[in-house]
Amino acid sequence: MIQALKILFVEDLPEDLELAKRKIKSCGIIFESFLAENEDDYLKGLYEFKPDIIISDYMLPEFDGMRALELALTYNSNMPFIILTGSMNEEIAVEAMKAGATDYILKEHISRLPFAIREAIDSKKAMVEKKIAMDALKSMSDIIQQSPFSVISTSLEGIITSWNKGAERIFGYTSEEALGKNISLLYHEDDLDILNNDIIEPLLSKEYNQIQTRLVRKGGEVFIGSLSLWVVKDRAGKTVEMVGYTYDITKEVEAEEALETSEKMYRLLAENTQDCIWSMDMDLVFTYSNHSVYDILGFLPEEWIGSNLKDHCDEENYMKMLESIRLGLQKAPNSEGICFQVEVLNKEGHAVPVEIIGKIIFDKNGAPVSIQGNSRDITKRVETENALKESEERLELALRVSEHGFWVWDLDEDDFYFNPQSYMMLGYENNEVPMSIDTWSKLMHPDDRKNVMPEIIDSVNERRPFNFEMRMAANSGDWIWVLAKGNTFNLKSGKHWAIGTLVDITESKKAEEQMLLAKIAAEEANRCKNELLANMNHELRTPLNSIIGFSDVLLDGSLGMINEEQEKYLRLMNNDGHRLLSLINHVLDLSQIESDGITLHFSNFDPVLVAENVMEATETLARKKNIKTCISIGKNIGTITADADKFREILYNIIENALKFTPENGNIIVVMNRRNDEIEVSVQDTGIGIAEKDRERIFDAFVQVDGSNTRQYGGAGLGLVLVREYLKMHNGCIRVESKTGKGSKFIFRMPVYPIKKEMSDFESPVRSSICSPDSQHRYQPPKP
Ligand code: ADP
Repeated sequence: MIQALKILFVEDLPEDLELAKRKIKSCGIIFESFLAENEDDYLKGLYEFKPDIIISDYMLPEFDGMRALELALTYNSNMPFIILTGSMNEEIAVEAMKAGATDYILKEHISRLPFAIREAIDSKKAMVEKKIAMDALKSMSDIIQQSPFSVISTSLEGIITSWNKGAERIFGYTSEEALGKNISLLYHEDDLDILNNDIIEPLLSKEYNQIQTRLVRKGGEVFIGSLSLWVVKDRAGKTVEMVGYTYDITKEVEAEEALETSEKMYRLLAENTQDCIWSMDMDLVFTYSNHSVYDILGFLPEEWIGSNLKDHCDEENYMKMLESIRLGLQKAPNSEGICFQVEVLNKEGHAVPVEIIGKIIFDKNGAPVSIQGNSRDITKRVETENALKESEERLELALRVSEHGFWVWDLDEDDFYFNPQSYMMLGYENNEVPMSIDTWSKLMHPDDRKNVMPEIIDSVNERRPFNFEMRMAANSGDWIWVLAKGNTFNLKSGKHWAIGTLVDITESKKAEEQMLLAKIAAEEANRCKNELLANMNHELRTPLNSIIGFSDVLLDGSLGMINEEQEKYLRLMNNDGHRLLSLINHVLDLSQIESDGITLHFSNFDPVLVAENVMEATETLARKKNIKTCISIGKNIGTITADADKFREILYNIIENALKFTPENGNIIVVMNRRNDEIEVSVQDTGIGIAEKDRERIFDAFVQVDGSNTRQYGGAGLGLVLVREYLKMHNGCIRVESKTGKGSKFIFRMPVYPIKKEMSDFESPVRSSICSPDSQHRYQPPKP
């Protein structure tokens, strides 16, 4: 529907108004109108009726045209305003036109009114359009001028025809410097081919081009520009200009490259790290995982992603994780994150200890959106920690069981550690006294402190082990003996520690003291015994000698005849006297050997003569038991240097035993031989023999093979002890061969000179006693 033209008339003559309306209508203009005859009506018309055009008389009784024009232009500066007047001179007309009227018409030319209306409206419209276009162009040009991007236009030959501020900023040339130059100014000399082939040619053919290329600033600096280019055509459609729009994308390209590199790096890191990197949504469903989830838990990433945290741990560990997440949520969004250790189930359902470092990701409104983190398998670490704890515990328990104190002195920090045993040893509760070197020094017995403390400090300084016994004051007031042992070490960590133990040795100290007392008492007792024996020597032998001597005198008949019975008793008395004397002699000899040694009297003598003498002395007994005795002497026996009495006694004891333990009608053979520097004598009998188990025992004091034997054979078990001792004094030795029930053979050897000699085939050890022939040799018995 055509919009009716709104006309505001300013007219006082109704017939003129009527005429004007008719003329307008007759030309087919559809309109509606509003009439104003004074200023009030006029303003109402302007502001309420809102006219498209005003047709006004010049002179009115209550109003005038120029005033109406003024108000109209105030209302709208583009308002078409036609003055329709009965009389108007040229001056007024010019004045009205100058004031902004669109046209003026004399009433006598009223038929021109409709055309004037059309023209006025058209021209006003054109003016408005032009103004809008101009304004737009101006602001466009401003925008282009002020644009941070470079906008450049060139002729078809490439000569720069416009150059905005952005171009100035980007390329560094002012518009004076750039205008009129060829656009190649902005290109690298190596890129002129690109300019022609890749930029201008496609632009002219396609009328548009877009490209990223390298460009050059005034100073020669190269950068990367993003170019958008198009052509400008004239009305005839002929291309007349080229326009280009450029901006520097060096930073973006660099950033993009950097982003790509860093993305690549992170991808590599994520894919190659041994840690499992993951993310989960706030429903605790995993949304990403790298491949390490397979190495740690045996799940492929595709199996892991989409699974819920709850499926991967037991109740206790799940609650632990929820608690950690809750803590993470409590912290501000820009917190460091959360770190905790839990056990996660692997694909086979076994618990794997892992350390989790996670961060909750919040959106810009502060709402949590996801959790990201990495998990590390700490099985080895946990094992090591457990092993360490176990070994510490083991040490602690071992020390507790041993009841040893244990201390560590950190020499770098001058710090002390004493374990609880160290306190308990002295009867203090844990930490009842400060356990420092000071405390130890104060608790030490003053005499020990004087000696021990400087020694300990020196040992530590000189890095050598130490070992001290000292008395410490116990809580009870007693002195406790403590053995302190220690040494100084350079630890692998670079620290220097002195470490040691404390042992309560009070009991063993007491035992040691008692042993010392016992030793003193034993020595005293021994001294008394020796004194007693020395007395016995005199007191026992003197009466015995008179018993034996006077019975001898009575027996030899020099004091008159004695009858058979008297002789029998006298002989018994004499024999028993001899036996008793021999026993006393044995006991005294042994005690002398045991106490302060026996002095040997060396002489050079013929051993054969001594042997024959012994055979004679024992002949009576042999005859009594009808035992045949014989002696076999080897070649070149010669003389020997030894104590002749002792040699005789050795032989006598062995032969006497042989006679004693050989039943009637037996045989005894004595064989004497010289073997290099030794003399070897054997006495073989056909007696009762000696069981294997007794063959060594019989050489011990007071040992007799069996009680019944003793009763049957008499003796005190001292003969063989003396034999062995005498032989040892001569660096000789003795052994026995025997068969129970068949007989025994005692074989002894001794050097022909009193010199040291190794006796390889005799079991008895050889005592070293070097002395020259005929010298006196003091034998020292072995210490117990
Ligand atoms: P005793 O004075 O008792 O003979 P000895 O020291 O001379 O003491 O001998 C110790 C023991 O050795 C004897 O009691 C005896 O049992 C055993 N013994 C010694 N010589 C012989 C031997 N020729 N035949 C059997 N047993 C013997």
